[in-house]
Amino acid sequence: MTFRERVFSGVQPTGNLHLGNYLGAIVKFVSLQQKYDCIYCVVDMHAITVWQDPAELPRATREVTAAFIACGIDPKEHIVFNQSQVPEHAELAWVFNCVARLGWLNRMTQFKEKAGKDRENASVGLYAYPALMAADILVYRATHVPVGEDQKQHLELSRDIAQKFNNDFAASIRAKGYGEGFFPLPEPLIQGPATRVMSLRDGSKKMSKSDASDQSRINLTDDADAIAHKIRRAKTDPDALPSEEKGLELRLEADNLVGIYAALAERTKADVLREYGGAQFSTFKAALVELAVAKVGPINAEMKRLVADPVYIDSVLGEGAARAQALAAETMKAVKDIVGFVRR
Ligand code: ATP
Ligand code: MG
Repeated sequence: MTFRERVFSGVQPTGNLHLGNYLGAIVKFVSLQQKYDCIYCVVDMHAITVWQDPAELPRATREVTAAFIACGIDPKEHIVFNQSQVPEHAELAWVFNCVARLGWLNRMTQFKEKAGKDRENASVGLYAYPALMAADILVYRATHVPVGEDQKQHLELSRDIAQKFNNDFAASIRAKGYGEGFFPLPEPLIQGPATRVMSLRDGSKKMSKSDASDQSRINLTDDADAIAHKIRRAKTDPDALPSEEKGLELRLEADNLVGIYAALAERTKADVLREYGGAQFSTFKAALVELAVAKVGPINAEMKRLVADPVYIDSVLGEGAARAQALAAETMKAVKDIVGFVRR
C-alpha cells in the first residue's frame, strides 16, 4: 500500500514551552513545511491526563499556538488547531483502546515516570495516552511524525496499533475496497543534535514543562537576563571541553550544552567541538548565552505580540479545526464501515 505523505505532530498545553520542545520538535515542524502537508495540533486532551486548572488551560493552549506561529509555522498553508475541537480524535482513540493490548501499554515508560509511586491514583487517561496519540496521527493517516526522543516508544506503539488494526480487520478492509491495509505505519522523525535536551540542573533528566524547577529549563518566554542567568548557573563539570565528540561520553551536562549549541547554530556537535575544544565552560557558556538570546529573543517578542490578540489565535484554531475535521471525518466513516458500526 502507498499512502499520501503527510506530517502530524502535537504539543501539550501543559505549561512553559522550553528549548527542548523547540529544538526537539518545533524547529522540525517548521522545516518539514517545505516538503510535506503538515498538521500541527495543540493536544489539550492529552494535557488533562494530569490535572489542569480550567482557568489556565485556555491561556496555555493559545500560548502554544502563538509559539507555533512565532517559530515560523504557516497556519494558512498548513493546519494548526487544538485537539478537542475535532472529536474524531477521541472517537478513533476508543477503537484503538480496543485494538491495543494491556501488555503493550504496561511497557510504556512515560506512564511509569508520570504516574510515579502512586500508580493506583493515576488517571485512566494517563495510562491510555498512547492510544489517543495513535489516533491523533492515524485519524489523518499521517505517514511522518517529528518528535523528540522521549516519544519514540509511543510512536512504536502507534505503528503496532496500525498494524494490528490492519491485520485484525484485513478481510473487512478488503471487502470495503481499501486494499491491503487501511492505516499507514507512521514513521518517527527523530534527528539532529538535540533530540533529547536535558535539564540544566540534572543531565540525567530530560528538560520538561512539568519539572518543578524553573531553573531546569529555558522557556521560550524567558527574557535575555533569565536566559543568561540559567545558562551561567547550568550544572557542568570542572574540565575543559573536549575536542572530539567521544570526549563527551559520560559527561552528561557537557554533552547537553554542546548539543544545545549545535542545534541552535544548525551545526554538528563535532563541528562545535572543533571550535571550542580546550575552552573552559565560562567561555563556552558566554557564547551559548549570546546564541540562545539571539535565537529565542525574536520568538519571545513575536509570541508576546500574538498572545495579546486572542481573537486572531482563536480564529486560527477554529479554521484549522474545520479543515482538520474534514479530513478526520472521512477516516472515521471508513473506520466505522470497517469495524461494522451502523451509521447514518
Ligand atoms: P510534559 O512534561 O507536560 O510532558 P513536555 O516538555 O514533555 O511536557 P510535550 O508537549 O509532552 O512536552 O512534548 C512536545 C514535543 O516536544 C514532543 O515531540 C516531545 O518529544 C518534545 N520534547 C519534549 N521534551 C523534550 C526534550 N527535553 N528534548 C527534546 N524534545 C522534547
Ligand atoms: Mg511530554
